[in-house]
Amino acid sequence: MDHFTYVDGAMLAEQVPMADIAAQVGTPVYIYSTATLTRHVAVFREGLSQIHDPLIAFAVKANPNAAVLATLAKLGLGADVVSAGELLRAIAAGIPAERIVFSGVGKTADEMRIALEQGIYQFNLESEPEAEMLSEVALSMGRKAPVAYRINPDVDAGTHAKISTGKSENKFGIPYDRALASYAAARDLPGLDVQGVAVHIGSQLTDLTPLEAAFIKVGALIERLRAEGHDIRTADLGGGLGVPYDPSQPLPPSPADYGAMVTRITQGWNVRLMFEPGRLIVGNAGVLLSQVVRVKQGAQAPFVIVDAAMNDLLRPSLYDAWHDIRAVHPKGERAAANVVGPVCETGDTFAMHRDMDVVGAGDLVAFMTAGAYGATMASTYNSRALTPEVLVSGDKWAVVRARPPIEALIEGDSIPAWIASEGVQD
Ligand SMILES: *Cc1c(COP(=O)(O)O)cnc(C)c1O
Repeated sequence: MDHFTYVDGAMLAEQVPMADIAAQVGTPVYIYSTATLTRHVAVFREGLSQIHDPLIAFAVKANPNAAVLATLAKLGLGADVVSAGELLRAIAAGIPAERIVFSGVGKTADEMRIALEQGIYQFNLESEPEAEMLSEVALSMGRKAPVAYRINPDVDAGTHAKISTGKSENKFGIPYDRALASYAAARDLPGLDVQGVAVHIGSQLTDLTPLEAAFIKVGALIERLRAEGHDIRTADLGGGLGVPYDPSQPLPPSPADYGAMVTRITQGWNVRLMFEPGRLIVGNAGVLLSQVVRVKQGAQAPFVIVDAAMNDLLRPSLYDAWHDIRAVHPKGERAAANVVGPVCETGDTFAMHRDMDVVGAGDLVAFMTAGAYGATMASTYNSRALTPEVLVSGDKWAVVRARPPIEALIEGDSIPAWIASEGVQD
């Protein structure tokens, strides 16, 4: 469910005509809906209503915009961060450190120090050398770091290979079979307070079966760890629940189905449960608004060349992802088209042979479900400015990240004196 709807033949973001935003900010531009964010948080909470005091830590990497984070902070969410940058952004947006968990295989000593200074809730460790480093850093600060190990449960999430994280060959977590040994070693590290177990098997999961298999393994491990005397108080079940991208595909499991499964599997665990949803919260709360530059004849279908490109929305190129593409002012006709950006890469293709609204030069199109892993993955490839972002709430809207001038790109580089002074050689 989202709040991008047609009224009198024009797509609105909540109550704001998208064409108004395009006219004032230009295109391409990301547009986020506060009402949709709020609804997704409420639906996820409702799914977990049988669970006592869950910590819902939004996966910041899905959308780190300060206005989005501040909206989620007001709704009581915590944050799952994977870098010091994300940690400091989350705190700056008002998410308290005691609701922040730090994930990732490559945390550096500096990042550990920053997180310890802030007093975060939990570090999710992914290897024994990382545990040793964190213990040293914590000791040097006279602190004890609260930790969980991220377990690699060796289950196939059944999603795209580039967003699967829970198979034994993936880089994430410690092997399930080594878990007891890793926990025993961590207990002997004086800078650590071992408090939990964590798991995250992948993203855009459209089936609960692999999640359930992973959670069963976490439950069994908690029992064995307690039998060995570990005081396990938290279990972090990660994120990964899929969202609907393609209206012709079956709906992914609902937060209610997910919550019912979690409630059933975690019965009697006697831990504080943590969750790290990213896409589920922000995916359908954002669109990428773009303008058609021109339409060019193709061998089979016409190429609709839009002013958004793979540098603005990487998912189709990176993950073969499918985004619904809708005209902001549909004319009632549909036809097959190829939708491409201006970047000089064949991978800069959003859709091939797509049955979609007929559009022509100057028309606006919206890439739906672009709120997660959209703006955050943008780059300046082909020397294109980073995409601006807008947040809508009812009839109000604001630019929450401005489009930087091209001069900023030019001024960002510097030319060493020896080049400037030597003049042109021939
Ligand atoms: C990316 C990530 C998430 C969020 O995944 P979604 O599919 O967006 O819910 C949660 N936890 C960890 C550790 C991640 O890397």
